[in-house]
Amino acid sequence: WAKAEGKNQWALFDTERNASEVAQFRLSATMPAALEHNEFYVDYQPLVGLDHYRVSGVEALVRWWHPELGRLGPDRFIGLAEETGMIVSLGRWVLRQACKQARLWQDEFGSAAPFMSVNLAVRQSRDPNLVSDVAEILDETGLEPGMLQLELTESAIMSTADEPLEALRTLARMGVRIAIDDFGTGYSNLAYLRHLPVHELKIAGSFMEGVGEDQNLDPVDARIIGTVVDLSHALGLTVTAEGVETRAQATRMREIGCETGQGWFFAKPGPPEDVRTLLEAPQDAEWWRK
Ligand code: C2E
Ligand code: MG
Ligand code: MG
Ligand code: MG
Repeated sequence: WAKAEGKNQWALFDTERNASEVAQFRLSATMPAALEHNEFYVDYQPLVGLDHYRVSGVEALVRWWHPELGRLGPDRFIGLAEETGMIVSLGRWVLRQACKQARLWQDEFGSAAPFMSVNLAVRQSRDPNLVSDVAEILDETGLEPGMLQLELTESAIMSTADEPLEALRTLARMGVRIAIDDFGTGYSNLAYLRHLPVHELKIAGSFMEGVGEDQNLDPVDARIIGTVVDLSHALGLTVTAEGVETRAQATRMREIGCETGQGWFFAKPGPPEDVRTLLEAPQDAEWWRK
């Protein structure tokens, strides 16, 4: 009996796993058509300068409005898109969308317009057409290269071979900014960063848990962040704190010396109109979450 039960459980487990594999497979198989049918869209999350508390940039975050499954976040499909290679065309679409949007804000707000930060998947960083694609999109949209930042995760940039690194160097020479995303979640060697074409470091949101009011400040987290910020500055990099959810965290990160904050305390990712409303508002430290 017990054996039979065990066997049934395995059978059940197998069926479930197969069902989810089938679902994953179907999701990845429908991605090309979804891109063609405009089921993807981009939300923008403000990056706020901690010296003046105004929006200095935005990060483009892709979403999928699936006809049956509803709204899917990137964690549901970016990995799949990496596996199938679909990320290259999806990523190019996001980049074009984001640059168009940035150009619209540039026309409307001039020097007060935010720069645009776009995530780059590992596979995109290794795509031989990366530089020409970026150049073409900048040309086509008329966005200045200095208004574009590309974010790569720590592990992506560290595992990057010679050729992709050359591509990043070329992009940097064109004036495009390169940022390391989710810093602190991998195993990179900070000193090695001096050999990479990097301008900005984004500290992973997971570190924010230990940063807050004095009574629940984790001294180890705070010191790690302090050290990372100091070393980044010594290397000539600017620093963004991701996942800032409270005023206390924003204040603390500002004291530690981070130039920029990103997180729900300031704003969740949203449609371009939300960013536009922010750009029209007179912001200062008190204005946020008042
Ligand atoms: P990421 O690049 O680190 O983006 C930040 C993520 O943190 C976003 O999740 C954002 O919604 C979330 N976030 C922002 N503020 C807070 C906060 O205060 N608290 C918490 N708990 N979370 C916050 P999202 O939009 O689900 O994106 C997840 C990841 O998917 C991104 O992480 C990025 O790695 C990837 N991704 C998104 N769009 C693209 C894209 O166009 N291309 C590629 N290759 N990857 C993308
Ligand atoms: Mg990012
Ligand atoms: Mg990040
Ligand atoms: Mg992430």
